[in-house]
Amino acid sequence: MTSQVQIDQRVKSFIAACRQHGIKATQQRMEILRELASTEEHPDAETVFARVRKRLPTISLDTVYRTLRTLEENEIISRVGSMRERARFDANTAPHHHFVCSDCGLIGDFYCDELQGFPPPPEVADMGSVDSVYIELRGRCRACQIKRDRTE
Ligand SMILES: [Zn+2]
Ligand SMILES: [Zn+2]
Repeated sequence: MTSQVQIDQRVKSFIAACRQHGIKATQQRMEILRELASTEEHPDAETVFARVRKRLPTISLDTVYRTLRTLEENEIISRVGSMRERARFDANTAPHHHFVCSDCGLIGDFYCDELQGFPPPPEVADMGSVDSVYIELRGRCRACQIKRDRTE
């Protein structure tokens, strides 16, 4: 669970980042960010839209898309997953990795200090310099595993 303290912290750093990048912290943007900051589900734009709409009925899906893009461009949030899949978003800017369930699409955060210091393989060094390491582990979450076991 994301604690209230963490959510407040993320919203606060969002406001600071907006100021720094000259983006207006409008109510719509604040609500979108708050929604993203309070979940660990890494939702897609449609899901964010459906939730924010409950509080701001006048908001449009287009606004949500545009806001997410702005936030992403300013590195306030990050996009998760490969280009082929529908983009999902993450307001957790602490260095972390993902466990992805191939069945239901669950994305779980995990932290591993050892991975941050992971020496890049020589092939990678030939391609360029590495700034950060991001690992995505794919498999089946516990709930999907149980479901599979039952139907087998
Ligand atoms: Zn699953
Ligand atoms: Zn994440």
